[in-house]
Amino acid sequence: MGEIRKIECKKCNSSWQLHIGVGLRHGRPEGIAKAFPEEERAGIEDRLEEAGMSGFEFRFTPGSCPDCKNIVSIPRISFNGGGDEIAGACPVCGKRAVDLYDSIEDVACPRCGEAGLLSSHAGYWD
Ligand SMILES: [Zn+2]
Ligand SMILES: [Zn+2]
Repeated sequence: MGEIRKIECKKCNSSWQLHIGVGLRHGRPEGIAKAFPEEERAGIEDRLEEAGMSGFEFRFTPGSCPDCKNIVSIPRISFNGGGDEIAGACPVCGKRAVDLYDSIEDVACPRCGEAGLLSSHAGYWD
């Protein structure tokens, strides 16, 4: 089960909801591939099958998109302990140049640059 977090910038009053972690639907390669654009799914499924369920790690982590200036959830698959990674595009604008973070504490506000965003628990997703 993944977690929903509400992220707020007290300086410019921006707020976002992030789905992070991993959901029940991602227990199988087909479910994971669905988190990525359609044209990439077959290739991703092949790589996951090849790696085996213990050969990769999948989760959604926070990302900061410099293009549309949103904090977004990005699906990431890392193979071989993290050296080799497939990361999804920005769900808002579709660009791939998203800065990825493992923890929301490390993210500065993409709109005003303020560090130390407020992050609170807002529920679960599956
Ligand atoms: Zn974007
Ligand atoms: Zn801000």
